[in-house]
Amino acid sequence: MSVRFTQCCPTCGRRIQIQTTLLGRTVACQHCRAEFVAQLDSEQEAPVVNAPASSVEPDPLMARVDALLAQSSQDAAVRS
Ligand SMILES: [Zn+2]
Repeated sequence: MSVRFTQCCPTCGRRIQIQTTLLGRTVACQHCRAEFVAQLDSEQEAPVVNAPASSVEPDPLMARVDALLAQSSQDAAVRS
């Protein structure tokens, strides 16, 4: 299990998921292979917990859905 956040690649502009353990370190874009420093920015969404451990490129829309599902399940846990 790992905690990840999404960041837009400064080179190609596509969203990529980065593990929070890599914050402040140089990472490579999964799409264009450009290297940049992983960092949280102002447009950052809440970290996505339990992101699918898949080796394929994450679909931005599905990643969004996963984030919403995670939020709703957390809300339900709080209420119960
Ligand atoms: Zn890129």
